[in-house]
Amino acid sequence: MISQLDRDLTELQQAAGAYAARHRRIAEFGWPPGVRIAVNFTLDFDSMLLRRLLNEPPMQLAKGEFGGRVGIWRLIELFDSHHVKATIFTPGRACELYPQAIRAAVESGHEIADHMWEHRVPKEAALEEDHLAKTAAAIEKISGRRPVGTRSGHSASLLCKHEYIYRSEGSADQLPHYVVDESGNNCLVHLPFHYVIDDAMFFSFAWLGSENAAQRITDPEHVFDIWWAAFRQQYREGGYLNICMHPFVSGRALRVAMVDRLITRMKSLPGVWFPSCAKVARWCLEKFPPLAPAALPQTPESLLGMSHHSREGGNLELQGHSGSSGPPLPRG
Ligand SMILES: [Zn+2]
Repeated sequence: MISQLDRDLTELQQAAGAYAARHRRIAEFGWPPGVRIAVNFTLDFDSMLLRRLLNEPPMQLAKGEFGGRVGIWRLIELFDSHHVKATIFTPGRACELYPQAIRAAVESGHEIADHMWEHRVPKEAALEEDHLAKTAAAIEKISGRRPVGTRSGHSASLLCKHEYIYRSEGSADQLPHYVVDESGNNCLVHLPFHYVIDDAMFFSFAWLGSENAAQRITDPEHVFDIWWAAFRQQYREGGYLNICMHPFVSGRALRVAMVDRLITRMKSLPGVWFPSCAKVARWCLEKFPPLAPAALPQTPESLLGMSHHSREGGNLELQGHSGSSGPPLPRG
């Protein structure tokens, strides 16, 4: 007799198999000659949009605004001084709110990529496509280029239709890899990152009407040590580091100074590459093209997970940038 437990286990095994088949590591991954590690500095230009969605009080809106008025400029200046090419994931509406800053970033050679229209992915398919298209149009208008990357839960089919090549979201691996959607037809490069290398985990304070657990003010020196150790580990392995920052979080003076010292120390080692995310994605596609889509095992309906920045309700930044389920994590 087959018990309910047996049925549950079979379903779980099927789900695990389907998930594994969709996440494809790149065999014998490597960087261009002379490169030992690629470091992507990624900025989520949320400004006050997320805070507006959460109906936060004026003080918090002002904190978000600081990112658009001051933080983004300081960070562009910092990256330029080090010849680092950053990737700015921007909500489409931020192109209307802070066009000068985005234009300056483009002039410095930084990449502008998608971070949803107003920091949410609508549930309705037509509206979702409208948001994606509006953001691409806004970015193209201001930068002269259509975005090819996203930090969002937009569907892979829609992203591929609009010629996106990568997504930077989730922590399913350490290295760049490929993820194929349920249909097996839509494949994107994934550029993973982790909370440990996310400024909001250390510096977000007094927001979301949060209880004590969500209050954080970490000494930048301590964050320097953590990030440097993470970098060294990846450096030893010939790996990859995606440092996620928010202009309203990391744009504060002492934190900018800390990142300045961090980049300076990274540059003291040979073989450290600071490209844009698009450049890393193109490197993967050119050197390690994805295999032709294979027939994929199906994930049981009941086990389909929600991704961060996924459909309404799952899109909020406070769930963190991992694609996993689990309790929401506070973030900015
Ligand atoms: Zn965001």
